[in-house]
Amino acid sequence: MAKRDYYEILGVERGASEAELKKAYRRLAMKYHPDRNPDDKDAEEKFKEANEAYEVLSDAAKRSAYDQYGHAGVDPQMGGAGGAGFGGANFSDIFGDVFSDFFGGARGGSRGGAQRGSDLRYTLELDLEEAVRGTTVTIRVPTLVGCKTCDGSGAKKGTSPVTCTTCGGIGQVRMQQGFFSVQQTCPRCHGSGKMITDPCGSCHGQGRVEESKTLSVKVPPGVDTGDRIRLSGEGEAGTHGGPAGDLYVVVNVREHAIFQRDGKHLYCEVPISFADAALGGELEVPTLDGRVKLKIPEGTQTGKLFRLRGKGVAPVRGGAAGDLMCRVAVETPVNLNKRQRELLDEFRKSLQGDDSHSPKASGWFEGVKRFFGDV
Ligand SMILES: [Zn+2]
Ligand SMILES: [Zn+2]
Repeated sequence: MAKRDYYEILGVERGASEAELKKAYRRLAMKYHPDRNPDDKDAEEKFKEANEAYEVLSDAAKRSAYDQYGHAGVDPQMGGAGGAGFGGANFSDIFGDVFSDFFGGARGGSRGGAQRGSDLRYTLELDLEEAVRGTTVTIRVPTLVGCKTCDGSGAKKGTSPVTCTTCGGIGQVRMQQGFFSVQQTCPRCHGSGKMITDPCGSCHGQGRVEESKTLSVKVPPGVDTGDRIRLSGEGEAGTHGGPAGDLYVVVNVREHAIFQRDGKHLYCEVPISFADAALGGELEVPTLDGRVKLKIPEGTQTGKLFRLRGKGVAPVRGGAAGDLMCRVAVETPVNLNKRQRELLDEFRKSLQGDDSHSPKASGWFEGVKRFFGDV
């Protein structure tokens, strides 16, 4: 089935602001939320669709990929950063407050206080070469994992949590505030409905312990600073049987000694000698795949860009590789010996009275004359 346009799904213009997207998404999600439309397949589809559209459009990098390449640019199968998941991070971000108000009582009670673990963010520093070619790295992430001693229950081995006496196991308590009766999460069991009388010694009743996790992360070729790789379920462990959060590995590409990167294009500066610039010659320039020869025509000036097609970066979301742009900088010779000085002096004299050899300077002096009005 062909996917619908994300902007169309949310019913917004292509240039919609973040606030407009959020508003449109909230409206749809409230309308089609499964809690409000039990056993309604159509509503469920619409809810998923809106969720996916919002997950992409609310992420600046994904949105620009989508604007450029359409669904192909953000499809997880295409190697894009992160996948569009159902009930992902954005969902809880944006609805944490709203839905707990709307559906609070029913939800908290029926789930027995189970909470999804937090998402984690890890900044992965890469060299330009690694980012361009892709790599597999081993990272250590401090996180909370389920306690093995008590299997995450938080109760000492051989004991089990008992029903909370404050809320009677419901996880919610009713409080009278003026005219209103307000339902609140039970302060004693924090919504789990269970109390631990004999806490586990390893996790002090938390059910989770701090641990450094070692993970192997496959980085696809072509990633750039700001790209995210989502490792589903590798975030913090959930509580009371809730699912684990996700780990977002965020790429940061280090500055390179020779190349500057701008998207898929690379730039580098190549110094050339004054004589090579004047007479023309052949230069060796660096690329990520080694050195290549570059022909310089005679009369080359500083600042001239030479484009080496396809020697840039192949983007992670697909498409042709970018180019390498070499910017030439003519170098003034230094440490001249007597003979070299004489030659250059002779050369200087040979130019006198003929400005046809200095295309920039003659134009520049004309400009100065016009500026001061003296001809
Ligand atoms: Zn309770
Ligand atoms: Zn434990």
